[in-house]
Amino acid sequence: MAHAVTPSFEQALTKYEPVLGLETHIELGTASKMFCSCPTAFGAEPNTQVCPVCLAFPGSLPVVNEKAVEGAIRLGLALNCSVAPWGRFARKNYFYPDMPKNFQISQYDEPICVDGHLDVTVDTPDGPRDFRIEVERVHMEEDTGKSTHVGGSTGRIHGASHSNVDYNRAGIPLLEIVTKPIPGTGELAPLVARAYAAELRDLVRSLGISDVRMEEGSMRCDVNVSINEIGASEWGTRSETKNVNSLRSVERAVSSEIERQAGVLDDGGRVVQETRHFQEHLGRSTSGRSKEEAQDYRYFPDPDLVPVAPSKEWIEELRATLPELPAAQRARITTEWKLTDTELRDLVNADAIVLVEATVAEGAPSAEARKLWLNELSRRATEQEVELGALPITPAQVARIIALVAEGTLTNKLARQVVEGVLAGEGEPDAVVEARGLKVVSDDGALGAAVDEAIAANPDAADKVRGGKVAAAGALVGAVMKATRGQADAGRARELILEKLSG
Ligand code: ADP
Ligand code: MG
Ligand code: ZN
Repeated sequence: MAHAVTPSFEQALTKYEPVLGLETHIELGTASKMFCSCPTAFGAEPNTQVCPVCLAFPGSLPVVNEKAVEGAIRLGLALNCSVAPWGRFARKNYFYPDMPKNFQISQYDEPICVDGHLDVTVDTPDGPRDFRIEVERVHMEEDTGKSTHVGGSTGRIHGASHSNVDYNRAGIPLLEIVTKPIPGTGELAPLVARAYAAELRDLVRSLGISDVRMEEGSMRCDVNVSINEIGASEWGTRSETKNVNSLRSVERAVSSEIERQAGVLDDGGRVVQETRHFQEHLGRSTSGRSKEEAQDYRYFPDPDLVPVAPSKEWIEELRATLPELPAAQRARITTEWKLTDTELRDLVNADAIVLVEATVAEGAPSAEARKLWLNELSRRATEQEVELGALPITPAQVARIIALVAEGTLTNKLARQVVEGVLAGEGEPDAVVEARGLKVVSDDGALGAAVDEAIAANPDAADKVRGGKVAAAGALVGAVMKATRGQADAGRARELILEKLSG
């Protein structure tokens, strides 16, 4: 709908309040698919990881993957859900070329886990604020295949000469986590949505059930947003922005949608219930199709599958073997590492907790490990536009660099060059030190020669020091550092200078 002006986010929030709802798909990292034994490895030749079941040949029968059910229950427990003692899979009927059965096996009114919550924290100018996000359900389903449209300029079906479809992804287990509507976040709505996605990602990662890489599509968020006039008795009509693939985009999908809907309402229009597509390059969504109603999918229980009926004993065993979850981990490291609120938030925001912990486990003091990951390495990750964990350096290598500084082999400045070398693929820290000749020069022979040269080249400074102006030694230390390309032990150089000039 065309309208006169889209208000700014701040303007929109003076008049309207948003309600959010997040539906998140997680691709499980099981070895085989949801209902057959085909492998799930990413990147194989198209249509090599398929069989009669996931290609839906007549007469083939699906069998539930127990590991996928286990993953669903573990996530449900970690989200404080109750686990259903009995539930059936349902067929969700719709036609799509990348879905060979013409229905998707999903769970409809009998999801495996219901009624949980996840607590998130967002930073505000007045300090951190906590929100409890209610989780309506966690259910299991299967992924579709993947279409590629060839011949057009945009990669979309419009203008393409033909399309290819790869069914390797068809039947990969998915979990869908659906929140209850989230009111009451006001101008923090975009940050709350982002914090929820980040917290859910970290939770899933700690369970080890998925690699949750948003950029590779193993975690994708559908972002529902509605707005209503502040204080109105009913919520507005929501739109659903599909397949949002980064934390930053989750945030922007919410803020841009609040602005757009406010523009529609300000103009006397009505928000239509529709799915929208987030356009990374625009930072906002464009209209997709108007939304199907549940009845359009003609859900019914899948007659080919037995109900899922996890025993109490199994559920309790899974509960007892949950790993330490992110919230507990944060509480523990806050005490162990004596962190302030801000220091903890910095670690969370940089997505560095797991990396710093691993570095500490390799023997580094936590303060040094935090410093290296949060300063030097975060800066490089930002520069290269990759996640911190995707930098080609391991916690063990970081710990080794920290140890080399602690034992005096490297200065902080030299350490940065070693980091650079490791990131450039020049090998282990010790190999980089060797190959680049980065060791601190502290033996008196080599250093003494550099000091003599510095004194000879700077007679004025040397005279001042001789005359008692010790501060003038700084210029000579500087000259030594320069001559040794930063590799001199500055403290020792200063001592030598003062010794030589006092005699
Ligand atoms: P559908 O089955 O059509 O996807 P759901 O009832 O599952 O609809 O809701 C989808 C998501 O939208 C859920 O997370 C839900 O909490 C959320 N939601 C429902 N109503 C609203 C609303 N008025 N505004 C924002 N989000 C909403
Ligand atoms: Mg839904
Ligand atoms: Zn198969």
